[in-house]
Amino acid sequence: MTQPIEPPDLNVLDIPTLSSSFPSLLAAAVTAMPCTTAPDLFATTAAGHTHGQATVHAAQRLCLRCPLREPCAAYGCHHRERGVWGGTTEHDRRNALSNMP
Ligand code: SF4
Repeated sequence: MTQPIEPPDLNVLDIPTLSSSFPSLLAAAVTAMPCTTAPDLFATTAAGHTHGQATVHAAQRLCLRCPLREPCAAYGCHHRERGVWGGTTEHDRRNALSNMP
């Protein structure tokens, strides 16, 4: 059975604080994160387009087991990054930003 993909709820996270902690947490990680071993799944294409839905879901499933999901999602949101960050898509992050005061 496929595990449901539930990204962190960006509407309840402290985006600036978590975002600022992400680079040091990533640098201190004792094991490689899936996005560092399979970066093509997480990035956008060379033309700046996002991958197909199946690739996005594959990246999101890998994020489910990552201990850095929340700060990573906050970083991707705070810095308006492209691709999958912390299990969130660009669409997820744009929605969260549009809901913020
Ligand atoms: S949560 Fe972030 S750091 Fe972890 S695998 Fe996903 S994209 Fe990489």
